[in-house]
Amino acid sequence: MRIDERIASGTEPAFSFEFFPPKTEDGEANLNAALAELARLDPTFVSVTYGAGGTPAQKGKTIDIVSRIKADHGLEAMAHFTCVGAHVDELRATLDRMREAGIENVLALRGDPPAGVDAKNWVAAEGGLNYSRELIELIRADYDFAVGAACFPEVHLAAESAESDLRYTREKVEAGARFLITQLFFDNQLYYDFVARARDAGIDVPIIPGIMPITNVSQVKRFTEMCGASIPPGLLRELELRTDQPEAAADFGVAYATMQCADLLANGAPGIHFYTLNRSPSTRAILSALRCLAPWRRPVSA
Ligand code: FAD
Repeated sequence: MRIDERIASGTEPAFSFEFFPPKTEDGEANLNAALAELARLDPTFVSVTYGAGGTPAQKGKTIDIVSRIKADHGLEAMAHFTCVGAHVDELRATLDRMREAGIENVLALRGDPPAGVDAKNWVAAEGGLNYSRELIELIRADYDFAVGAACFPEVHLAAESAESDLRYTREKVEAGARFLITQLFFDNQLYYDFVARARDAGIDVPIIPGIMPITNVSQVKRFTEMCGASIPPGLLRELELRTDQPEAAADFGVAYATMQCADLLANGAPGIHFYTLNRSPSTRAILSALRCLAPWRRPVSA
């Protein structure tokens, strides 16, 4: 089923889980274990990344995992897809494979540049596409996927300005993106301000906040640096107090993300997209607690 329709028809906010294709046998086992645990939570959809973090895209693997999730777990699954390193003909060939595999939902992205290359120095492949909007246009012209796109409450690293970034985000929606998923953030005010600016700019699709439960202090510092997100000073202080206590850091990560999600849902966020990093315990604890509390039924403001 198309994700935009699932979001619109859901009886609770849209909860989704993001996974990445593992590269090792241990990683494969981790993913399978996480999938088995998290499938029981009956998410609205799950998604699988495509070459994220500048790792070479394992094209077939994203498609295989999405198909496997649909077949083995009965979940709706979305394939991420990027413009990186591919001629338009290759992009079409991969989209054909997705269609043949019965995939109905695609998150259309420009894609991270190869590891070590700054987002500002991203270069399109020869005969390829420069921006995600062009990929959305290509998909909408010749395919029937429900398309989602990315957005950046703290402004994309390579953007000329916050205004231009918002304008280009609107272009993605005008080109056919039916929902947006945000980059991770740790200060909800950034999301609220972004949504207000997006609505003023005429962007009317659901904007799903992307939340990463912190499980590891050095990892979150690395990720935020890579994607241009900030760590509020109070959060950073508490994390640094737990640098040598991984379990305490992960427990604190669950507490922080649960409060962050509860506040977002009480204030009208249409769902939560969890960056699971192929691990289940934190996401499972957070979503279970949210369902007990159901903050979306007790809004603190409109
Ligand atoms: P675009 O929309 O193309 O924007 C890129 C930059 O170009 C922005 O700075 C924008 O302001 C600017 N821009 C857009 N249009 C124009 C224009 N016409 N003229 C001038 N400038 C313009 N990466 C992966 O490699 N694989 C993944 O699976 C993956 N999954 C992701 C999932 C989510 C939810 C998010 C938020 C990000 C994900 N990423 C992934 C990262 C993403 O690909 C990078 O952040 C990328 O740099 C930007 O992608 P985009 O689709 O927003 O790019």
